[in-house]
Amino acid sequence: MAAHIGFIGLGNMGGPMASHLVGAGYALTVHDVRPESVAALVTQGARAAASPAEVAHAADTVLLSLPSPGIVRDVVLGASGVLTGARVRTVIDLSTTGARTSEEIAAALAARGIVAVDAPVSGGTAGAARGTLAVMVACPRATFPDVEPMLANLGRVFFVGERPGMGQTMKLANNLLSATALAATSEVLVFGVRSGLDPSTMIAVLNAGSGRNSATEDKFPRTILPRTFDTGFTTGLMYKDLQLYLEQAAAAEVPTSVARAVVELWRRACEEIGAERDFTTIVQLVERAAGVEVKE
Ligand code: NAD
Repeated sequence: MAAHIGFIGLGNMGGPMASHLVGAGYALTVHDVRPESVAALVTQGARAAASPAEVAHAADTVLLSLPSPGIVRDVVLGASGVLTGARVRTVIDLSTTGARTSEEIAAALAARGIVAVDAPVSGGTAGAARGTLAVMVACPRATFPDVEPMLANLGRVFFVGERPGMGQTMKLANNLLSATALAATSEVLVFGVRSGLDPSTMIAVLNAGSGRNSATEDKFPRTILPRTFDTGFTTGLMYKDLQLYLEQAAAAEVPTSVARAVVELWRRACEEIGAERDFTTIVQLVERAAGVEVKE
């Protein structure tokens, strides 16, 4: 019989990831503060729990996909948190929270004999829906074979180290690069359009040339040129990840000249475009300043 697992946080990423696990035959108990998100999973065969503790009473392994470090802390360490569950043995955090939170959570769980698996993901809501995410796992080496088959339902699973937080470090590095590519591509597309080039032609040329990146290959053709802005990842979440990057880079005493410029753009995007908007709307910050639109 498949292990009984729990899933807390059924949002843009957690909802589709939990669906894959139900589809793979796992007995799943779910919780979210939004009843409609829970109802959608119950329809697919999951059981509903009223609190994180109730999930951790029912499940051996509990997965989390939550918006911020503070919420992860509350859900794990709070009065009716995962930590108080009688059955849970392993907690897998799929959220992006930074290495510090991951270390803190791992230490608190270890004190109760519970293993922490730091496993942030990349690939967006499209990757979550298709089961093609990159899953960056840091956990004790002996634990990896126990969690790898389940996580393989979500995408490609990479073992990045044993120390809690190493998955987070890998994820923050990925997102700094993704945000940099999107910000820089926004600037050069606005530059090209303002100078008379056609944006679709620019994207085709860049993708055949050395300027190719994740924004030219995916975000511009899929959502920016058609002006749908619907990747399902918000500017506020990206800004959170970038701040976490800067915090860790400062602690690691490494240069951050590019990172600081990029983070400042995303801070302004939160203020001037909106933290709740799709993160691809960063292009609008550049468009407004130049008085042009990058569209098909
Ligand atoms: P989201 O806001 O869509 O989903 C978060 C879910 O957590 C929501 O359903 C919310 O109701 C629930 N929640 C909030 N507080 C809760 C609590 N106290 N108890 C139980 N449930 C609670 O966010 P998302 O886009 O799914 O992102 C989740 C995590 O994954 C974030 O850490 C994000 O940085 C990361 N991530 C997102 C993407 C993406 O493309 N959206 C990609 C990779 C990683």
